[in-house]
Amino acid sequence: MTAKLLDGKAIARDIRDKIKVRVAALRARTGVQPSLAMILVGQNPASRLYVRNKVKACAEVGIRSTLHEFPADIDAAAVIARIEALNCDPEVHGILVQLPLPAHHDIHAVLRTIAVEKDVDGFHLYNVGGLVLGETVFPPCTPYGVMKLLDSAGIDVAGKNVTIVGASNIVGKPMALMLLRHEATVAICHVRTRDLAQYTILADILIVAAGVPNLIIPQMVKTGAVVIDVGINRLPDGRLVGDIDFEGIRKKAAYVTPVPGGVGPMTVTMLLENTLVAAERSVAPSRTETLTAAAK
Ligand code: NAD
Repeated sequence: MTAKLLDGKAIARDIRDKIKVRVAALRARTGVQPSLAMILVGQNPASRLYVRNKVKACAEVGIRSTLHEFPADIDAAAVIARIEALNCDPEVHGILVQLPLPAHHDIHAVLRTIAVEKDVDGFHLYNVGGLVLGETVFPPCTPYGVMKLLDSAGIDVAGKNVTIVGASNIVGKPMALMLLRHEATVAICHVRTRDLAQYTILADILIVAAGVPNLIIPQMVKTGAVVIDVGINRLPDGRLVGDIDFEGIRKKAAYVTPVPGGVGPMTVTMLLENTLVAAERSVAPSRTETLTAAAK
């Protein structure tokens, strides 16, 4: 068996084309241009690269983006104050804080400061908690992107055994809640899980987000499984790889995502989608429920 590639780049392009049309339609109808404010603290090269990619992606679909940069040693209160100002700015529809933040910042306090209706990354306590009840305002971008990838390939998760490797607040945990809402049977593994293979081998759908190259080898995967590799790791030779033995698993799985070009482009695309939805809601608050339902 040779797995079909779940081509995140191509699927993301299709979704972005549709977002571009909706952005133009919103501007033509209301004069409102969706706008995303990004906060970047310090010089972390990976963070700077991610932010650059987001600025570029916004420009491609007609979303305005503004970058608010701070030095690494900035007073934590200054970042909070900037978020509060952005919360009150009617021209800003989405606010994103690029993580990680330097250690002297209280990440939870920073994320909680973002107005829920502008929290397009979906990391505010309300948005994360809302996932439990299925009432989140914005689904967090990476798990939302994984759901879209599965959906675009016609893979129904209801009744499937799904194993998630990685239990972080931004990927593993919200992913589990989204899948549960769609009636999958979900197992969540993490670094303290004993005998990881015993869980992965049962998975009809295996989602890996651990940040460990080659963590998942073919012997750990059921024949015909769908394997989604969220991991992004830079090897010493400069290559970018995920968390799975891609070549080996490709011979055994039914579907597999490449790295790069799998989940990564979907994450940025769902950020664009959430920002557009935030702008649409700002001009038609009464449509909030419809749009929330559409986003799930
Ligand atoms: P994290 O470090 O916050 O969490 C990692 C999780 O993996 C933890 O729950 C940990 O217990 C688990 N883990 C670590 N080693 C393990 C092991 N040997 N066996 C089982 N579980 C193990 O990381 P994160 O922020 O969730 O990111 C995970 C990976 O996904 C990273 O490579 C990151 O770069 C990538 N990522 C990609 C995207 C994307 O858009 N493609 C988005 C976010 C994160």
